[in-house]
Amino acid sequence: MPLPDQPHAPHLLGIEPLPLSRIEAILDRAAQFQRQPPPRTLAGKRLLLLFYEASTRTRTSFEVAARRLGAETVSVTPGSSSIEKGESLLDTVYTLRAMAIDGIVVRHSSSGAPHLVAAHVDVPVINAGDGMHEHPTQALLDAFTIRRHRGTIAGLRVAIIGDVLHSRVARSNLLLLSRLGAEVRLCGPRTLLPPEFAAYGDHVRLSWDLEDALNGADVVMVLRIQMERMKESFFPSEAEYVARYSVTPARMRAARPDAIVMHPGPMIRGVEISAEVADSPQSVIREQVENGVLIRMAVLHELLVCHEPHP
Ligand code: ASP
Repeated sequence: MPLPDQPHAPHLLGIEPLPLSRIEAILDRAAQFQRQPPPRTLAGKRLLLLFYEASTRTRTSFEVAARRLGAETVSVTPGSSSIEKGESLLDTVYTLRAMAIDGIVVRHSSSGAPHLVAAHVDVPVINAGDGMHEHPTQALLDAFTIRRHRGTIAGLRVAIIGDVLHSRVARSNLLLLSRLGAEVRLCGPRTLLPPEFAAYGDHVRLSWDLEDALNGADVVMVLRIQMERMKESFFPSEAEYVARYSVTPARMRAARPDAIVMHPGPMIRGVEISAEVADSPQSVIREQVENGVLIRMAVLHELLVCHEPHP
């Protein structure tokens, strides 16, 4: 039987509905956890990691974060569960909910799946990536990483390059970074960057020319081409994409000399980014992974310990 709707369970479903005060609280908490080892505030709690889509970084990052705070984790993936036998998302959740779960982390190929779960359970739900929609913890760890290098986000020029259309990372980042005062430049082939993206705000600018987008950029965020979300061909060939949009050392000369290079992973070297750029001193790609654990600890602490009322 479905559990009644519990409007007071706090969730993290996206950047869009998140008040600035909660964004700042999470970023501050992550900084605090970086300065001093966090207390085991989640001791005795159990977190369900429900991943319907492949994941390396995000799932292990939530697992490490939960364990560092003293929680136990239960991981469910399609290959290891009745998901493969066709059990519905909600039936799976109800079954697992009966096992004393204190919070649920959901990744799903359908936009809105974590919202559906959140409407039917009485524990916090965290969106770990829903289809082409949002990936809020990735954007928060990206903002945290940018702040560590630049001190602030307001006034920075952030170029987000590649398959913007299919990227939940791009969507969450453009919502978050523009809210924090950055100028966000979106860049990619026209088929992967429709003009509608300009409607995301005054701080968002579209460019179909890589050099233009990189010109004077403080932050260069590169995206993977999301082949798994494409039912048709969006560009003539990989070689053509590489020729126009791959971020190479020569192209990086248009950005500021101290610009940082980011990528949410998984990264396809030689396609959206060259190995030289990925491994250059400007790259903070590995640090993003480290910061992911801090941000996820901060989010878990905020939702499972502080229990702020739902906005
Ligand atoms: N890991 C990120 C995501 O889950 C980016 C990607 O897959 O390219 O959206």
